[in-house]
Amino acid sequence: MSLLVVGSMAFDTIETPFGKADRIVGGAATYIAWAASYFVQDILQVSVVGDDFPQAELERLAARGVDISGVQVKPEQKSFYWAGRYHLDMNSRDTLVTELNVLADFKPVIPERFQRPDYVMLGNLSPTVQMSVIQQLRHRPRLIAMDTMNFWMDTQMDELRKVVAKVDALIINDAEARQLSGEYSLVKAARVIHRMGPRYLVIKKGEHGALLFYKNHAFFAPALPLEEVFDPTGAGDTFAGGFMGHIAHTTDLSFENMKTAVVVGSAMASFCVEKFGIERLKEISSEDIENRIRQFVDLMHFDIDLV
Ligand code: AMP
Repeated sequence: MSLLVVGSMAFDTIETPFGKADRIVGGAATYIAWAASYFVQDILQVSVVGDDFPQAELERLAARGVDISGVQVKPEQKSFYWAGRYHLDMNSRDTLVTELNVLADFKPVIPERFQRPDYVMLGNLSPTVQMSVIQQLRHRPRLIAMDTMNFWMDTQMDELRKVVAKVDALIINDAEARQLSGEYSLVKAARVIHRMGPRYLVIKKGEHGALLFYKNHAFFAPALPLEEVFDPTGAGDTFAGGFMGHIAHTTDLSFENMKTAVVVGSAMASFCVEKFGIERLKEISSEDIENRIRQFVDLMHFDIDLV
């Protein structure tokens, strides 16, 4: 089954209490593709980079089965650049620099071969760009999921609502769910967001796990308590990649399978934070992933006799 991934590919400078990484490869679509590549081979990558983006990084993705022919390389232009600094708690960060560069006038062109994907993951980009991707598709995918952020809610709420109305699944963090819905209670927020369009809503809560809402059902998966969290950058995108990778691999949209997808996404995110950038995602094996998922199952499982 094919998975169309659209999002930024970038250089990031990251400062955490444990160290600094200067201009390393990042971007939402980079994390999504790496995570999903452990579950599904037919990944159709759509993004834009400048000619400063290392060709070797694109080739590494291609070697994992990611079709990079939808990644536009703009000659004599610079790739998107983002810099952030994490606070001591590692749950919050300040954005220090955002240089849009090639992303400023990104007009995604979905190649002919990419226009009938089974599944779609729209990474955090302007809602206008996300909408243009949906409009270029020749048939309705089995599931379209999207991410977004507070910036688009502050600046383009009307456009954002139009895209949200067209997707099946929204994958956002708790602060974004509250801002989008105007509700503090996440249960109420889920009800409001369901009415906006998406049948499935995933609310990520960083080190406090992730919630899945579907109709009247709710499911919660914790984050794995890790001894060391080195760099949380991209954890949300890695979650989305694992989640959609699992769905595309299993082609099962039942609530039960969505629950498994949340656990798979959480497991992938737990690897991501162990090293800077995509470093850890590059070195794990399928066996590592299986073991990590088993750790989640052990962590979450309990029997109780109610008398
Ligand atoms: P996350 O930690 O999941 O929020 O994702 C961080 C990644 O998103 C970094 O690799 C950044 O390059 C990328 N990013 C940050 N801001 C933006 C933005 N405004 N548009 C697209 N990608 C972004």
